[in-house]
Amino acid sequence: MKNNRTFTMIKPDAVADGHIGAILDIITKNGFKIVALKYTKLSAEKAGQFYEVHKERPFYNGLVEFMSSGPIVAAILEKDNAIAEFRKLIGATNPADAAEGTIRNLYARSIGENAVHGSDSDENAEIEGNFFFSAFERF
Ligand code: ADP
Ligand code: MG
Repeated sequence: MKNNRTFTMIKPDAVADGHIGAILDIITKNGFKIVALKYTKLSAEKAGQFYEVHKERPFYNGLVEFMSSGPIVAAILEKDNAIAEFRKLIGATNPADAAEGTIRNLYARSIGENAVHGSDSDENAEIEGNFFFSAFERF
């Protein structure tokens, strides 16, 4: 993956709340090209692997339970400066701190159930994209 790509998930809360279409619309209207897209569900084991970096954090078990509680949408997105641009579009982790009009401001339920994931570095975007997608599933 080049440094113009990021990885995202629409998390189980936003899927259950019916926001898949609205969130994909915001993403594409803000100039991100969808390079890969998948509707799937993480097992607890897979969710635990994905968030392994947080395993010592107090919220880890709750996060794994939440992320495996229902289907998600996973995607690889492309835009210049994708990581920073997408973090700006989703807003702060805690929706109470997320700027007006950001995806988390609009759709998150709480700091834990916060509607979307966005990679925090080029290296992690590559790792996370590879976690979900094969070479035949990205364009
Ligand atoms: P971000 O998703 O904004 O990069 P982090 O990487 O710090 O945030 O955390 C990963 C995910 O863990 C968050 O998106 C959220 O779902 C959950 N999380 C983070 N902090 C907390 C917290 N204090 N309480 C509950 N869940 C949290
Ligand atoms: Mg993070």
